[in-house]
Amino acid sequence: MPKLFCACAPKAVFEPCELQPGLSAKRCTACRSVLLAMPDYRAWRDQHFSELPAVEPAPQSGREAPSKARACPSCGRLMSRYRTGNAESFWLDFCPSCERVWLDDGEWETLEQSGLAPYLDLILSEAWQKRVQAQRTVSSRDELLRARFGEDALMEIRRIKAWLAQQPNRRDILTFLAEP
Ligand SMILES: [Zn+2]
Ligand SMILES: [Zn+2]
Repeated sequence: MPKLFCACAPKAVFEPCELQPGLSAKRCTACRSVLLAMPDYRAWRDQHFSELPAVEPAPQSGREAPSKARACPSCGRLMSRYRTGNAESFWLDFCPSCERVWLDDGEWETLEQSGLAPYLDLILSEAWQKRVQAQRTVSSRDELLRARFGEDALMEIRRIKAWLAQQPNRRDILTFLAEP
């Protein structure tokens, strides 16, 4: 296997490390980011987790830290980017041709703390990415409404809206409400 160089510093290289007992990866000597080969990861996961309960992404809305696409330290191609979709959502960089995930220093630990460490394959799926995007859209719309009306008014508006939806003559009610 060719030597892996990290772009963070001229002489930075990746050295073997253990993320978990039995889970080997490579860590950059300078920026401490981690390169994880999916075949190694899958072997570790399948050995330690026989059944995985279903999980849903729970991303926060709001602005994400901007980050640029990275070149794979192994093949040099641009890596694909995937939102993790947990509360502190961050991007995972994944090289499909080398089957490697690149995590910044501390991101593996964040995945572990949020219980997502065994779900890397799920996170890298199109279905998960779509769900994260949909949830982010809903929660940022909620934030806009909350900023506009305030929490109490927003709850009242939602209650009235739900009630209105059940009224057969809701159009008349709305017309009446809109009258000065
Ligand atoms: Zn580095
Ligand atoms: Zn690659």
